[in-house]
Amino acid sequence: MTIHALAAMKQGEDLQDFQYESAALGPTDLKIAISHCGICHSDLHLLRNDWGISRYPLVPGHEIVGTVVEVGSAVDPKLLSKRVGVGWQSNSCKTCSSCICGEDNLCVNSQATCVGAYGGFAQAIKVDSRFAFEIPDALDSAAAGPLLCAGVTVYNPLRRWDVTAKRVAVVGIGGLGHLAVQFAKKLGNEVIAISGSESKKEEAQELGADHFVNGRDPEALKSLRRSVDFVISTVFAPMDMKPYLSMLGANGTFCFVGAPSEPISFPPAVLMDLQRSVTASSIGGPAIMREMLQFAAVNQVAPWIEKLPMDSANTALERLEKNDVRYRFVLEN
Ligand code: NAP
Ligand code: ZN
Repeated sequence: MTIHALAAMKQGEDLQDFQYESAALGPTDLKIAISHCGICHSDLHLLRNDWGISRYPLVPGHEIVGTVVEVGSAVDPKLLSKRVGVGWQSNSCKTCSSCICGEDNLCVNSQATCVGAYGGFAQAIKVDSRFAFEIPDALDSAAAGPLLCAGVTVYNPLRRWDVTAKRVAVVGIGGLGHLAVQFAKKLGNEVIAISGSESKKEEAQELGADHFVNGRDPEALKSLRRSVDFVISTVFAPMDMKPYLSMLGANGTFCFVGAPSEPISFPPAVLMDLQRSVTASSIGGPAIMREMLQFAAVNQVAPWIEKLPMDSANTALERLEKNDVRYRFVLEN
């Protein structure tokens, strides 16, 4: 089958029209007619080959929503016509210890939706059915898109580290951050939004933040010293860790979901003081994805989105690079 898509033919190039022939469906595969696809900052990292893993032609897009139009021989035909979503991961080995215990996101042979495969800036996609998640009726298709990568990426660590009835700081209020604020609040936490953009103050409060701190103001960061239980950081630019580690109280945890491009450094004594820890988290497995979608539907966690037609993807990417979006672009077919 021929699939129409948008691809960058080389590193750093704009997207252009691109067609490819998709292989026939395997027994566990299904084909999705894509209605919407969110744009994650990881799409920009891939287009620039920031992580050295990109393969071209590169069709970005891993916040995919659409309708199942074809199923493989081993897939329940009841899935036909259902609305489903696909995130960063489109397959796993199903045999390693991580997959066996449901942490497919930690599979060493994980298949990413748009690395070495063509992603969701397209009319259709073929994926393994285990990585196509039914979208609850209460969720709008366009707004569901960003939940599939940004949403699960911030929800997973909040659940894994049992972050409820605590004081949580969210650093960087972008696609991931604005969902972290909403999920953290709805999980019953006191939430501090830390942003370099003072213009986001009122919006952060509307999203559910109890406090807003300007991350460019060292004195304001200092005022949080030893008062926070969990910090979730979505920032990808180099950052001075000391004020963020110092804001943790006893047994507090700092969790990277955005990865700064440069090595980070801090004196280990900052961790020893109050037994703090630093960790990181990567997307989420199938069970947590389903739980997150249901939690969002029941608790009205809703991405703030700007919709654009699929053929405006280049404009959206340029604006995302300039931090000019509140808070996620979603492309529509
Ligand atoms: P985004 O929408 O662009 O948001 C990132 C936020 O970081 C911006 O809104 C801004 O927040 C802040 N920021 C932007 N440029 C900055 C700069 N030069 N210096 C300091 N802060 C800056 O990006 P996103 O889609 O949320 O993704 C964030 C990061 O998470 C990306 O690196 C992405 O690859 C990564 N990611 C990781 C996973 C995972 O599994 N761990 C999954 C998805 C994405 P303020 O204006 O509030 O300062
Ligand atoms: Zn992503």
